[in-house]
Amino acid sequence: MSWEPIDCHAHTVFSDGALTPEALVATVRARGVRPSIADHASHDVASALKSVDAVRDYLAVLETLPVGRGAEFCWHDTLWRELPPSIVSQFTHRVGSLHAIALGDGSWVHMFQRHLPDGLTPDLYMDAHVATLEAFAREMPVDILAHPTLLPLSYRTLPIEELWTEPREARAVAALAAAGIAFEISNRYRPHARFVARAHAAGVRLALGSDGHTADQVGDLAFPLATARAVGVDDAALYDPFVHGSRPVH
Ligand SMILES: [Zn+2]
Ligand SMILES: [Zn+2]
Repeated sequence: MSWEPIDCHAHTVFSDGALTPEALVATVRARGVRPSIADHASHDVASALKSVDAVRDYLAVLETLPVGRGAEFCWHDTLWRELPPSIVSQFTHRVGSLHAIALGDGSWVHMFQRHLPDGLTPDLYMDAHVATLEAFAREMPVDILAHPTLLPLSYRTLPIEELWTEPREARAVAALAAAGIAFEISNRYRPHARFVARAHAAGVRLALGSDGHTADQVGDLAFPLATARAVGVDDAALYDPFVHGSRPVH
């Protein structure tokens, strides 16, 4: 059988997606892509799995389907810390997200908040972002960092190659390499090629993710796959939970 990419990051009605798990599997398969489901598991996302019991029930449904069993956990939230090893070990892979960044004074900036604190500049923000990424990589037992270039709403019109200076990129990929966490090439929050190439050069595995929420979006890996190939990654070296496994439960 020829190689087929796997979409490591997609959402269903278990969180904020539009499709049932069964419909997601059929839709992604029709694209020639292997499906997995990674719904939000967080107290801090409006539509999400919000308890240990909800995560257990979700996994029980996914186990009846031919699909990768993931979840997207917020680093700043506590739910991932509450899951017992018996539940964590049922995932084929776990995805971690920086949906909020610690500013160092005890406050947090959320990626979807409208207004940023007075006095916060993009440079100060980015330094805090990289420091938060380093803490995430040290502490969070996940396999993939979702959408590494997701930024607060008000910074999304700024050029990401300038916000992500080369020294900041180097710190981020060093942290991921040390932890053994893959760098997601997101179709939704698209990284710039220099950052992807730097991750690959540092030995960080790359993962493909649609971050799809609708039938149009799930399994759409054209951009992520083209980006991985453009930086010289062999298809077989892309993160595949069924080949490379998941990090041990701590
Ligand atoms: Zn996310
Ligand atoms: Zn997502």
